[in-house]
Amino acid sequence: MVAHAQIEEVAPPPGAKLVVATRILPPFVFEDAGALTGFSVDLWTELSKRVGIAFEWKVKTNVAEILEAIESEDAQIGIAAISITAAREQKFDFSQPMFESGLQVMVPLQDSGFSPMQILSYMTRGAMPYLLGILALLILVPGHVVWFAERKHADSEFSKTYIPGIFQAMAWALSAAAGQQNGSPRSRLGRLMSVGAIFVSLLFLTYWQAELTSSFTVQQLSGDISGPDDLPGRRVGTTEKSTSETYLKGKNATVVSYASIQNAFTALETGKLDAVVFDAPVLLYHAANKGRGKVRVIGPVFKRENYGIVFPRMADRPRQLSIRKKINEALLTMREDGSFDTLYNKWFQPE
Ligand code: GLU
Repeated sequence: MVAHAQIEEVAPPPGAKLVVATRILPPFVFEDAGALTGFSVDLWTELSKRVGIAFEWKVKTNVAEILEAIESEDAQIGIAAISITAAREQKFDFSQPMFESGLQVMVPLQDSGFSPMQILSYMTRGAMPYLLGILALLILVPGHVVWFAERKHADSEFSKTYIPGIFQAMAWALSAAAGQQNGSPRSRLGRLMSVGAIFVSLLFLTYWQAELTSSFTVQQLSGDISGPDDLPGRRVGTTEKSTSETYLKGKNATVVSYASIQNAFTALETGKLDAVVFDAPVLLYHAANKGRGKVRVIGPVFKRENYGIVFPRMADRPRQLSIRKKINEALLTMREDGSFDTLYNKWFQPE
């Protein structure tokens, strides 16, 4: 049995204000010049009017803090974009679903086409610097050998003086390394070099091509997240203690959790993350507003979740039980009388 005093503690007597915990999460909850707005704020304000509840907001940092506040009875109600989950249902009571949501993936917008900077960056990546070094050796060494061997030869195609002779020989070596020989050495050593160059250039060109292809592919891959299956091994941001965090920890992704989803968006837009996984409506809202032209939401909504208003477990708290019942009635009435749709369209109407 629960003592009467305990019931009073959870549900304040008429006239006292209920504490409603929330957290900033556009477009559900915005803080605008000290005042709260957003879909969930409007919804709760309307419900509280219909039920006749006086309340005050308490802004928390993340969803876990909202739940903790309710558990420790610092708040009597929680509303933001709080997913109804089996684990949470064990510790709390939820209202009827107030919003159908789910998780989705957001990635940075890739700029298509190759800029000179991008091409320069390929040259410095992977085996490319080594290949460029080998190419330099393939020009310098055979160039010198051929010039020395050729300069004594009467009808040599290369000048007998070091400059320009060595440049002519290096031009020959470069064309040989590229698989096409301009000019033909007359000396025995020069001809031997020619034959050698054919083999070396074949190997070199094959390797160069493979390296180039793979470095382009790696570049494409890093922009190639097209859904939740591509997340393992990637740096993925989300908010701390959210259902997305739980989901990502079960995958092989490197999870970076932020208190505010805005910080995850900034990290994505500045190249610190490969993707953000979060509630689809929050991602879509950002992509259509502040993130326009910088990010895109891709792939399906892969984990459907409903949001609910949270209450403490009420089995033994009749007064709280009746508050939840009244709120549920008001919520369903709002769905039926069209005012829920009006509110929905106010915050989620596509432009
Ligand atoms: N729907 C998410 C959850 O309930 C939102 C988390 C958050 O507010 O960051 O876990």
